[in-house]
Amino acid sequence: MKAARTILYIVAGILIIFAFLFILGAFSPSGSTSWLLVGLGGLAVAFVFIIIGARLGAKAAGTTQNISVNVDLPGNMKMDAIKCQSCGAPLAADDIKMIQGAPVVTCHSCGTTYQLTEEPKW
Ligand SMILES: [Zn+2]
Repeated sequence: MKAARTILYIVAGILIIFAFLFILGAFSPSGSTSWLLVGLGGLAVAFVFIIIGARLGAKAAGTTQNISVNVDLPGNMKMDAIKCQSCGAPLAADDIKMIQGAPVVTCHSCGTTYQLTEEPKW
């Protein structure tokens, strides 16, 4: 999906460059007015590509939002103070994952899995 969006933007960029060259060429003494139409058509196609790319990007942004929840979690919950309920080993940010909207801890030391909401301190 990301690659498709990048290709769309690259194609749109190339189209815009050529479209501007055609439009500039249309105003030069050796140019013809038909180049202006070609340039405007190229611009229109480029904008369609950008719109499609932006829509693909909006879908991709939804995926990255889930990732940012994981990244933001340590700051909100003071990771320094978090220890495993089973073995007391300090938990890393990677040990906490959002599963169905609830923060779930998977201890890397003892392998215990439990929900953070069960911890009374929280
Ligand atoms: Zn543990």
